[in-house]
Amino acid sequence: MIVDTDVNRARGLYGRLIDTAATRFGAALDLDPDDRADEVSRRLAELFEGRPGIEGVMLRLKGRDVGVATPQRVGAAEGFAGPAPEWGAGDRAGLPGRSGRYRPVWFDCAAPGCGAAEARSFYDERAVPACPDEAHGPMELRR
Ligand SMILES: [Zn+2]
Repeated sequence: MIVDTDVNRARGLYGRLIDTAATRFGAALDLDPDDRADEVSRRLAELFEGRPGIEGVMLRLKGRDVGVATPQRVGAAEGFAGPAPEWGAGDRAGLPGRSGRYRPVWFDCAAPGCGAAEARSFYDERAVPACPDEAHGPMELRR
């Protein structure tokens, strides 16, 4: 039940990034229980910036779904009122150097035509994400 407590805590911590009405997501981001909300917000901003057209990112904690973050929620949390394409330039200008620090590690499903992808904040060969379709197995590191 420790996990449930962590998930509930995460929902409180990252609540402003989560759109409770959103169910569609094109990627997932693994959280660490110690991640600060502003760090998660920046990582999400980078994800949305790097993958235009993505509808949402499922935040996960220890494999449990926390909620779906949307570009709109993240944009608002980052303090930019405009739609997604506008935060890239201003964000980088305001925080030089953060790009490398928060660059996500992407994994892709190897099954032809699947298209599932997942982002991690770091690469751990012992914990490679698996495709939501269990028949597809582990994802491959994007190079
Ligand atoms: Zn797949």
